[in-house]
Amino acid sequence: MTYVVTRPCLGTKDRSCVEVCPVDCFYDIKKKKYNSKYGILVDGEDGEDAVGLLVIHPDECINCGACETECPVEAIYEDSAVPEADKEFTEINEQETVSLGDEELDKLRCTSS
Ligand code: SF4
Ligand code: SF4
Repeated sequence: MTYVVTRPCLGTKDRSCVEVCPVDCFYDIKKKKYNSKYGILVDGEDGEDAVGLLVIHPDECINCGACETECPVEAIYEDSAVPEADKEFTEINEQETVSLGDEELDKLRCTSS
């Protein structure tokens, strides 16, 4: 079990979730492909210019649930409760984190400090 960030985070990313996560398992994924796929148009390239979304590393999340109620746009769900229309985000959260090495994770990790 893990928690998953879904579509409404795209273009929002206010990071309220990061402030309450006790294990810093949110990662900032700035990839243009997610912006264009879900209708958020940006001119820039991957990296600083892309909007992207935050994702949760499923192996690091301790399932405390603290982030779910903090998100102002209801983008966070327990994996078993992700709305049907956003099911693919479970895979996106996993794919964008578990394949990364420690160095890459350190670069993308969101912390409250
Ligand atoms: S998941 Fe919600 S609280 Fe966290 S950055 Fe995205 S929109 Fe903000
Ligand atoms: S459920 Fe808890 S550990 Fe998992 S991402 Fe949310 S705040 Fe972090």
